[in-house]
Amino acid sequence: MMYDLLVVGAGPYGLSIAAHAASAGLSMRVFGRPMASWRDHMPAGMFLKSEPWASNLSDPAGRWRLDVYCAENGLTARHAHPIPVESLAGCGPAFAEPRVPDVDEGTIVRLATATGGSVAGNVDC
Ligand SMILES: Cc1cc2nc3c(=O)[nH]c(=O)nc-3n(C[C@H](O)[C@H](O)[C@H](O)COP(=O)(O)OP(=O)(O)OC[C@H]3O[C@@H](n4cnc5c(N)ncnc54)[C@H](O)[C@@H]3O)c2cc1C
Repeated sequence: MMYDLLVVGAGPYGLSIAAHAASAGLSMRVFGRPMASWRDHMPAGMFLKSEPWASNLSDPAGRWRLDVYCAENGLTARHAHPIPVESLAGCGPAFAEPRVPDVDEGTIVRLATATGGSVAGNVDC
């Protein structure tokens, strides 16, 4: 199957780009566990350096906000109050589920060009 776009990595930028691309009608696939860097590789007990308003993922409607997500999930995100890493780490699925179709949690282990300039990938799940 040919796609307009492959997004490798479902971090804040990958998910945001994918949400905008899906909204624009592009056919695409997203690979990677949503927010894996944040969920799996940040030190436990860490606080974000960034303020809530500077930690938002970007959705096409421009409405998704970390402080709203936190409020809906019993977490606190206020200006000048350090935000626990878990507050951002957990938002990936909640952001992706309604906005980014078909997230494949596998890891891309190989990319190669194929006929017509398309790209073929190997996925390690
Ligand atoms: C200790 C630390 C603290 C930080 N604190 C802050 C902060 O407070 N505020 C802030 O704004 N930023 C902070 N950052 C920076 C933060 O990492 C970036 O802002 C943000 O995560 C970048 O998003 P990204 O989507 O580009 O990358 P990432 O979040 O790294 O996402 C990339 C994703 O791609 C996936 N991936 C990579 N290769 C593949 C593959 N082959 N196949 C499938 N998936 C793949 C990875 O698993 C990962 O999930 C911090 C970084 C570190 C290391």
